[in-house]
Amino acid sequence: MKAVLLDRDGVVNALVYHQDAGVIDAPFNRSQFKLLPRVPEAIRLLNDLGLSVAIVSNQPGIAKGHLKPELLKTFERRILSQVRAAGGRINGIYYCLHHPEAKVRKFRQRCRCRKPEIGLLEKAAADLRVRLDECYMVGDGIPDLLAGTRAGCRTIFIGRWKCEICQFTEGSHALPSFVAGDLWTAAQLIRSEMTGAGQATSAQSCLSAQA
Ligand SMILES: [Mg+2]
Ligand SMILES: [Zn+2]
Repeated sequence: MKAVLLDRDGVVNALVYHQDAGVIDAPFNRSQFKLLPRVPEAIRLLNDLGLSVAIVSNQPGIAKGHLKPELLKTFERRILSQVRAAGGRINGIYYCLHHPEAKVRKFRQRCRCRKPEIGLLEKAAADLRVRLDECYMVGDGIPDLLAGTRAGCRTIFIGRWKCEICQFTEGSHALPSFVAGDLWTAAQLIRSEMTGAGQATSAQSCLSAQA
């Protein structure tokens, strides 16, 4: 394996509960933006394994009028500086800014880059000069798993695997290779797999869990 493609919200930075709208979504302002614990260290660990790291993220917030484009850059600078301080490196950050029901006209489209489509993953892999089947795709959402599977990546789900998730992954054969509570644990699973040390636990579907 040569590279790791990371989803952003829920993997690199914390998700935010927006009480006014009653939704859990990306951060919409500076104070809401917080890196999750041990993310810089996890990226450093991946780099130490010889892996390039890129972020591939759906960010429809600007299209929906939730935040200004400059804020995306502010968040980006924070991610990069904290990762750099830990001795790690991110090789690229890629966003899909589109949404089919965007308020902002120029972003209102059905694009090829919004996950579960694979346009962003293809762009990242091309820039990193790796094949998609040499990449891990790490995400906390079903679109991440679907995109990763369609692209031929090895997929890792961040979060708690619950039975109700299986219905979205089994039919589409998008069951992740691994499930991890956070990026640090995911990086350790990747290390185990790449160095052949220890046993990584893979995800179990409802069916195989019942069997
Ligand atoms: Mg996410
Ligand atoms: Zn797009």
